[in-house]
Amino acid sequence: MARSADADAEGYEQLKRAVSQVGLIRRGSLVTRLVPCGRPGCRCQADPPQLHGPYQQWTTKTRGRTVTVRVHPEQARLLREWIANGRKLNQIVAEMQRVCLRLTDRLLRAAHDVEKATVSRARPPRAHGSRTASKRPSCRMRTPK
Ligand SMILES: [Zn+2]
Repeated sequence: MARSADADAEGYEQLKRAVSQVGLIRRGSLVTRLVPCGRPGCRCQADPPQLHGPYQQWTTKTRGRTVTVRVHPEQARLLREWIANGRKLNQIVAEMQRVCLRLTDRLLRAAHDVEKATVSRARPPRAHGSRTASKRPSCRMRTPK
């Protein structure tokens, strides 16, 4: 269902405000792992092994390489919040792209209409009689189809 140009323009303003409300962001993800320490004779080397943990790890990809860092519970709490902020920002940007696609499509169609109107003015007048109404924004903002 096509939204009106006014609704999209207002929606875009709201999204810009939403971006300004996003707190600190951090990419990557938190994982909880049980790990072996590698110390000979440790219970983690037994059969069956009793691994250490669970530990929280922050992991991310940097230039194609996966980086994993073990973090303390308080660090994990902060990271969880920043990672959630980053995902929220992604959602806002994705919505901005959807809204802007509609807004810019309208502008491109309007620019095309202006071009056609300019060309038609050089030809016999009144070829596109309804173009005179396009000075009013509400008339220019036609929905597609
Ligand atoms: Zn161990």
